[in-house]
Amino acid sequence: MRKWQRFVISFGLIAFLTGCGLLPGVLSPGVNHLALGNPSDATPTGLTPNNYLMTKPQYALSYNRTRGIPNWVSWQLDQGWLGEAERQDDFRPDPSLPEKWERVTPTDYRRSGYDRGHLTPSADRTNTVTNNSATFLMTNIIPQAADVNRGPWVDLEQHCRELVDQGKQLFIIAGGYGKKSAIAKGKIIPPNRVWKIVVVLDAVDQGIDSINAQTQVIAVDMPNQNGDSDASWTEYTVSVDSLERKTGYDFLRKVPKSIQDSIEPQVDSGTRQR
Ligand code: MN
Ligand code: MN
Repeated sequence: MRKWQRFVISFGLIAFLTGCGLLPGVLSPGVNHLALGNPSDATPTGLTPNNYLMTKPQYALSYNRTRGIPNWVSWQLDQGWLGEAERQDDFRPDPSLPEKWERVTPTDYRRSGYDRGHLTPSADRTNTVTNNSATFLMTNIIPQAADVNRGPWVDLEQHCRELVDQGKQLFIIAGGYGKKSAIAKGKIIPPNRVWKIVVVLDAVDQGIDSINAQTQVIAVDMPNQNGDSDASWTEYTVSVDSLERKTGYDFLRKVPKSIQDSIEPQVDSGTRQR
């Protein structure tokens, strides 16, 4: 086969698979929100309905069909994502889930006692209306106790944007583990704990190859319950290793093993000045 024929065939195949939704995002340009890896080996196929990979221009995630929530959402953050777009508040089902799957709707959270908690925060996507609106897809939302969502969780989100204001580039991944009682007649199973990992690069476009044993990595693990809205996020810092044990995922997997081994046992107090 000639080179150009091979090119035409492989391009056609990729376009076809993308059209079928089998390779979502492959052709969408821009940022790789999975630069640090896919910690749960999520796949964009019906073979892993409870670990279903969805990639969007604004973030990437693993969706759990049985639980009606993402297992994790991963996104990159720097000044380029921040601007003047207003909070759209247009919570809605995600139309890019496979057609036959039941979709969580915003009203499924009504009278549940939980907030509709963003994983990729609305305030991390304010450069365009489209990007802000994408954070209101229900595949980016988990049931979150109000005291956490409006307390230490939002404080850490703000801390991240302060780091970005200092010129840093962040790679963030967040999710939940454990189970609480189902809501919405069994359609949604809230997590018992909520966690987040933030990798802090000193400048934009250094790339993940610049990650070394001194790179700041903030990790937190919070109970998904009311009662301590005054707590500081710094009270919940843990090691990446502890989150790997609790979730069963392998984080930072695109980082060389020897560097993971020196970063992942550390607990960053979050107050370190650099
Ligand atoms: Mn929130
Ligand atoms: Mn790891």
